[in-house]
Amino acid sequence: MSDKKTPEISRRNFLSGVGTAAVGAAAMVTPGVNLQAAQKNAPRWAMVMDLRRCIGCRACTVACKSENNVSLGRFRAVIQEKTTGTFPNTKKAFLPLMCNHCEGNEKDGVPPCVKICPQFPGKRAKFTGTNGKTIRFRSGGTYKRPDGMILIDNEQCIGCGKCIDACPYGVRSFNPFVKAGGDPTKQAADKCDMCAHRVDNGVEPSCVNTCQGRARIYGDLNDPNSDVSKLVKEHNLATDNNVLLAEEGTNPHVFYIDPDNMLKTLYTQRKKGKLDHYVDEIP
Ligand code: SF4
Repeated sequence: MSDKKTPEISRRNFLSGVGTAAVGAAAMVTPGVNLQAAQKNAPRWAMVMDLRRCIGCRACTVACKSENNVSLGRFRAVIQEKTTGTFPNTKKAFLPLMCNHCEGNEKDGVPPCVKICPQFPGKRAKFTGTNGKTIRFRSGGTYKRPDGMILIDNEQCIGCGKCIDACPYGVRSFNPFVKAGGDPTKQAADKCDMCAHRVDNGVEPSCVNTCQGRARIYGDLNDPNSDVSKLVKEHNLATDNNVLLAEEGTNPHVFYIDPDNMLKTLYTQRKKGKLDHYVDEIP
């Protein structure tokens, strides 16, 4: 579905979840965030951000732009930063932000950006499950793949921008260099796609690969032996306190290890419909 060419694979760390049998739904169910598998016999990709380890170097932001050819002035992955405390007892904290690849609410399992897409459900599509069998699903201008990735199909996108307004996190923008459905007058929507082209080839997303502090951990929530599953369990991350805007009911699949309870201090909600690009800002 992506318009990108598959790049050279340079990653040393291969994903253990690709091409191996999933073990069914996530083993741990904690009140708060829904960890239900997006689909049986498919991975459920997720990311853990360890705020204890992020040093705000923005290597992830740069790697993402380079990997995905993100246009000038636009970003798919940003860092918010804030100085807290009073001199001389001050501390600087950093908060990495990106698309949360939301599961959607428990009723329909469709995130708000997909629900509002006039092109969803669109073309029929196929996904190869971890058992080698074909899983059929409906794609769209934006859609949820059976492994939980929320993706954009530039061919089906009509450039209406409704998904940009609907995302409560404001992580979507128009891509001025990609035309929606080939229409030269319309820009396609753009956002983090978890480097699907890399993950599909067994390597981690570029931001994870580049993170020097190992603050980003990526893997399959359906595999209880994956690092993300272990961290979610160990730190009890499937709670409202460890995801962004839990009250929106989106069931984000980006979790934060946040022992100092910095999420609420650091997170500045991006206003729906107010952004036409995702800015790396220092509030
Ligand atoms: Fe959609 Fe926004 Fe959730 Fe990403 S963060 S899946 S764009 S609602």
